[in-house]
Amino acid sequence: METYSRYFARTSLRQTIARVDVRDERILGEIRRETFVRKLKGRAFTSVRRHGKHLFADAGATWLHLHFGMTGDLAYVTGDQREPRFSRVVFNFDNGARLAYDDMRLFGVVELVDDPDAFVAARGLGPDPLDPSFTFARFAGLLDGRRGAIKSLLMTQEIIAGLGNLYVDEMLYQSSVHPRRAIDRLRAVETRALFTAMRRILREAIARRERDVELPAKYLMLHREVGERCPRCGGTIKRTVVFGRTTYYCGSHQR
Ligand SMILES: [Zn+2]
Repeated sequence: METYSRYFARTSLRQTIARVDVRDERILGEIRRETFVRKLKGRAFTSVRRHGKHLFADAGATWLHLHFGMTGDLAYVTGDQREPRFSRVVFNFDNGARLAYDDMRLFGVVELVDDPDAFVAARGLGPDPLDPSFTFARFAGLLDGRRGAIKSLLMTQEIIAGLGNLYVDEMLYQSSVHPRRAIDRLRAVETRALFTAMRRILREAIARRERDVELPAKYLMLHREVGERCPRCGGTIKRTVVFGRTTYYCGSHQR
């Protein structure tokens, strides 16, 4: 998600929106096509913010809100570069460039909101894991007094906004914690390890994607296959379902 936010900021700010093409209204959430187009035409995006999986771009009197669902993506194209195949909304700038929101499966949302802070509050979203104010003390506070499986808590957007399934599995793997471990049975050193791994993995993933290089071979993400050998301990990779999501873990070193 942070990658989308940086991409938007790098490509699409401070260009006047000459035309908005809504190619598929199903992506528009609650807003009508006419209202959406009218409120953005002639405006320019001046800054971009992110909270968890939600991206907001300031367009003056309103904010563009993007959620990327499972398959959402952004593509900034110029000249005769081709737009992505599943472009649902295209912002045409007056310099001839276009920003396309592409989403094959239509699980994402494109809409307008008045105030991102109000939106985050209304949705009851938890803190963003990359926000500088999200300290270890705050993380430990979120776990305090809770029960149930650690993975379920980490996946709950109202507790922490924006940790995806692959990243949560990776955090647990790198911290040697089993996905179903009871939260109230975590040792302090494990809570610390989870927080450190979360920061490290998110930052590493962003940096690597921006430079288009592979993740380290020791990452579980590259070994999500039943029966694979754990690159860390030689154990066997297993699969289960936690929080309704397919979960991979090492049967040996994650306890
Ligand atoms: Zn292992």
